[in-house]
Amino acid sequence: MSVFVSGANGFIAQHIVDLLLKDDYKVIGSARSQEKAENLMKAFGNNPNLSMEIVPEISKLDAFDHVFQKHGKDIKIVLHTASPFCFDISDSERDLLIPAVNGVKGILNSIKKYAADTVERVVLTSSYAAVFDMAKENDKSLTFNEESWNPATWESCQSDPINAYCGSKKFAEKAGWKFLEENKDVVKFELTAVNPVYVFGPQMFDRDVKKHLNTSCELVNSLMHLSPEDKIPELFGGYIDVRDVAKAHLVAFQKSETIGQRLIVSEGRFTMQDVLDILNEDFPVLKGKIPVGKEGSGATHNTLGATLDNKKSKELLGFKFRNLKETIDDTASQILKFEGRI
Ligand code: NDP
Repeated sequence: MSVFVSGANGFIAQHIVDLLLKDDYKVIGSARSQEKAENLMKAFGNNPNLSMEIVPEISKLDAFDHVFQKHGKDIKIVLHTASPFCFDISDSERDLLIPAVNGVKGILNSIKKYAADTVERVVLTSSYAAVFDMAKENDKSLTFNEESWNPATWESCQSDPINAYCGSKKFAEKAGWKFLEENKDVVKFELTAVNPVYVFGPQMFDRDVKKHLNTSCELVNSLMHLSPEDKIPELFGGYIDVRDVAKAHLVAFQKSETIGQRLIVSEGRFTMQDVLDILNEDFPVLKGKIPVGKEGSGATHNTLGATLDNKKSKELLGFKFRNLKETIDDTASQILKFEGRI
């Protein structure tokens, strides 16, 4: 019995693969090139329980066919994490919307064609971006929960890359639920969505720490490289540690109670001020080198916008998440070690 993880070399997926291997699952991962696949296998010490397949471009609807043609009779669990998460794009449809949506449609269709009787559980890595209304995130009278959907339309979400990313996650997740509804008589699998907020925390391997990090960790990295007089970027959102997001993907397929559920993985709200407060307090090497702002004015101390209510998801998942201090401390210390500053 194998677990298939798409985009296995991604920031979140590497932590998922790590937990799966530690739990003795056989893992088949996908990466976009042979080089990336080999690097990942090497990083995991060429563990015999990890093998890789190459899936260069998920926009192609048959991108996963060869994986399920070859391994379909062996794969019981599918964790679909691959999806573009970047804002440095030139075409919203080509670079974000189409790969996200076709990625979901394509992988589910490949399961239908080659593994309809074997795959039992599919977990889609969706996002809180599919849940909340970005234009109303600052409205204190609102609550977003597992029932909420980003109201964007295909056209409206193309106004800028951030909206396009949020739209890509909404339309991709919707495509997953619709596919299951239309094919529930011909496929065996049950579906669960994991909807994380901003994911911070250490890279799985120190070798992945670079000058620029993956989109969410880059928020912390860029804050650590501001000058004291620089303006503090405005950002209000939810935070979660990558190790908890990875664990949520395992619980998502291990429990029957999570079938058909959207699991919002969030520990709490933050602003960049909260991150700065932690960096300034816990890292003497950053003192006087980064902005201080107005200590204690962030979202961990004050109600600044809409309420994120994920009580139901927390109950279903049933484990305690790391707090902001732990996730920021571990993110920052890995970066500072890479830079030789601690
Ligand atoms: P990464 O960029 O680290 O990982 C994304 C993975 O998807 C990589 O393996 C990437 O391959 C692959 N991928 C992207 N586009 C394509 C494509 N067109 N064809 C084939 N493969 C592709 O991001 P994260 O680990 O942060 O994100 C993983 C998932 O989690 C995504 O679905 C994202 O939307 C979701 N998510 C992330 C959050 C976060 O804060 N990090 C929050 C909420 C949801 P390659 O690296 O080779 O390009």
